[in-house]
Formats: sequence, C-alpha cells, structure tokens
Amino acid sequence: MKNKEITLRDPVCGKKINRNKVHATLQYEGITVYLCCPRCQAEFESDPKKYLKKLN
Ligand SMILES: [Zn+2]
Repeated sequence: MKNKEITLRDPVCGKKINRNKVHATLQYEGITVYLCCPRCQAEFESDPKKYLKKLN
C-alpha cells in the first residue's frame, strides 16, 4: 500500500512543499495558505488577494 503524501503548494512561487518543510502557515479569509520561505511569506503578505486567486 502506498502512503498518501500530502503535498502543499506555495501560491507565491508555485512550488510544491513537503508538509514537513512548510515555513509558515497563514489563515487568510478562512483559507489556509502555506509558504515555503520567509521571502514568500513577505511577498504573500504584501498582496494576499493576488496570491489567493491562484489557489483555486
Ligand atoms: Zn515559496
């Protein structure tokens, strides 16, 4: 049986992030956002709406 790996996607850089390597988890308007590094976090926070659109 395969283990199902949960892969998260960083909306800023578009990279897939291993769940164990998430830099930051943010809640924004009820949506959970995962960021891979401080730079992506700063970028997301500078314009959250722009990046939230990419999540869908
Ligand atoms: Zn990133």
